[in-house]
Amino acid sequence: MFHPDFQPKPYWWERYTPTAVDLTDLPGHVRVAIVGGGYGGLSTALELNKNGMDCVVLEAAEPGYGASTRSGGGVSGGVNIGKSFSGKTLDPASDRARGVLTDGSDAFALIERLIQEEGIDCYWKKNGRFVGAWTPKHFEAQSRKIALLNDAAASGAYMVPRERLREEMASDYYYGGMVVERSASLHPALYYKGLLDACLRRGIPVCAKAGVKTIRQAGSGWELATTRGTVQADQVVIATNGYTGDVTPELKRRVVPLASHIIATEELPPDLAASLIPKNRTLADTRRVLTYYRMSPDGKRVIFGGRARFTPVTPQQSAPILHRFMTDRFPQLKGVRVTHAWTGNVAFTLDALPHMGKQDGMHYLLGCNGSGVAMMTYLGWQTARKIAGVTNRVSAFDTDDFPTHPLYNGNPWFLPAIGAWYRFRDDLDRAMARV
Ligand SMILES: Cc1cc2nc3c(=O)[nH]c(=O)nc-3n(C[C@H](O)[C@H](O)[C@H](O)COP(=O)(O)OP(=O)(O)OC[C@H]3O[C@@H](n4cnc5c(N)ncnc54)[C@H](O)[C@@H]3O)c2cc1C
Repeated sequence: MFHPDFQPKPYWWERYTPTAVDLTDLPGHVRVAIVGGGYGGLSTALELNKNGMDCVVLEAAEPGYGASTRSGGGVSGGVNIGKSFSGKTLDPASDRARGVLTDGSDAFALIERLIQEEGIDCYWKKNGRFVGAWTPKHFEAQSRKIALLNDAAASGAYMVPRERLREEMASDYYYGGMVVERSASLHPALYYKGLLDACLRRGIPVCAKAGVKTIRQAGSGWELATTRGTVQADQVVIATNGYTGDVTPELKRRVVPLASHIIATEELPPDLAASLIPKNRTLADTRRVLTYYRMSPDGKRVIFGGRARFTPVTPQQSAPILHRFMTDRFPQLKGVRVTHAWTGNVAFTLDALPHMGKQDGMHYLLGCNGSGVAMMTYLGWQTARKIAGVTNRVSAFDTDDFPTHPLYNGNPWFLPAIGAWYRFRDDLDRAMARV
């Protein structure tokens, strides 16, 4: 199943490879130092700059090396308010759930506006999303969410029964599912490059290979020691998401890094490619061990992602697993070869919600829960506006309640057990649905 030209790197990097753009000296003092150069960090920097505040982005690797150039490129207009690892669920009827959905909807509007304003050429397409129901019970649960999604987030959501599944995909794999019209897709690395160019055009230093080693209070501000020297700042923003490390141990205890894996296929015969996802939506499903997939922006390949394993594996190991998941859904793709496979970290939180706020005097925006293209852009924008003092509304994601657990120190030792349990439950639910 491996193509002779197989590469263990993101397909997206064919168009933008994370590169060390700025290796000049770090600024001595800035008003805001931002740790982490993904969508969250760059969006914070851009909005601070627009509000007249100087800042620096400190990135441990090359800009874009983290999740932001590795994603599936699906852009959802809301957030998943499902069950978290701890089993805690946000009551869908609560004011909090409504606020979260409304802000999720704002996140979608923001990314669309930003792409337009900055002229970012990233194959932005508003074709909607289809979420396949793994079982009839999941279909019922999806149906119950429709009213709230449409009311609080103007999602344009509706159900598609099993007998009409082929309007969404060339397969009979699911028990129907839910369409969310207000969703989009983009080329994640080109969107990233667009944000980076917007920062560089404004003279914002985005410093590559400047991993922050320590952050300490110095007078009324902060001193950040990096692998390339020291920066003084009045305020600090942590935007390290699934790569959050020991520099901020209290935040590390609040996010669970989980690897997500993706493959890209070789170019398909045009008729086959056009038939698979006729409305060119992004697809996902309601399994606990999620899969998500779409056509490439040029419509020629399948990009197929999911949690291939809950233990560390190489792209060479994850690719055959994802290939099997793909051909389970589309048997007509048996024999199609894989040209690229890659992995990246997403950050889960114990309440399954994204968070922004302040911890130990530092601002943070963390916890995309696998859906962060619009959301981390939005949380960066919100954080910058909060720092600049130009917002008159507190975001629903800005609360003091960022949960952790006494048994969790930032090392996700429990993931293999949770993964095994999720797989077992998925298989059991499906088997029960068949009897
Ligand atoms: C395989 C995969 C598929 C995904 N698919 C989707 C999708 O289809 N739709 C969607 O909405 N979301 C998706 N996501 C999630 C989305 O990509 C992320 O939520 C988003 O990119 C996070 O952006 P960020 O800026 O918060 O973090 P990142 O882009 O991960 O950036 C964090 C950066 O912090 C840096 N860093 C860490 N520690 C330090 C330090 N001490 N000093 C300096 N720098 C540091 C890291 O090097 C990293 O570059 C996916 C993620 C993955 C991995």
